[in-house]
Amino acid sequence: MKEYKRTVLYVEDNELNMALMHHIFKKNLPSLLLLKAETAEIGLDIAVRRLPDLIILDIGLPGLNGYEALEWLKAREDTRHIPVVAISAFALRSDIERARETGFAAYITKPFQVSAFTDTVKTLLA
Ligand SMILES: [Mg+2]
Repeated sequence: MKEYKRTVLYVEDNELNMALMHHIFKKNLPSLLLLKAETAEIGLDIAVRRLPDLIILDIGLPGLNGYEALEWLKAREDTRHIPVVAISAFALRSDIERARETGFAAYITKPFQVSAFTDTVKTLLA
């Protein structure tokens, strides 16, 4: 029997950040399946096909940015319930407020503390 794994989609254009996240999930969140996309367009396609339990979205992306991708997800019946975490180096108070208003479930600024990050993921999946 195949074990059901909860899935998390990470949309990130920076290879190093993607590698770091891969490592964090392997080490700290091994029961979760991490799906990866390097653009919002690819990520949205995966989101619709796989309906992940959580999406982590980089804000600064080529093409559609994180805010636009979130709006797209929230406009669809089948994806609007998925919690989306913003992850970004833009850490101004106005950025965090904008992220909340747009409907992100949480906003994480880079560089982040691994334990705080994994706590956020676990809380949103609980
Ligand atoms: Mg980026």
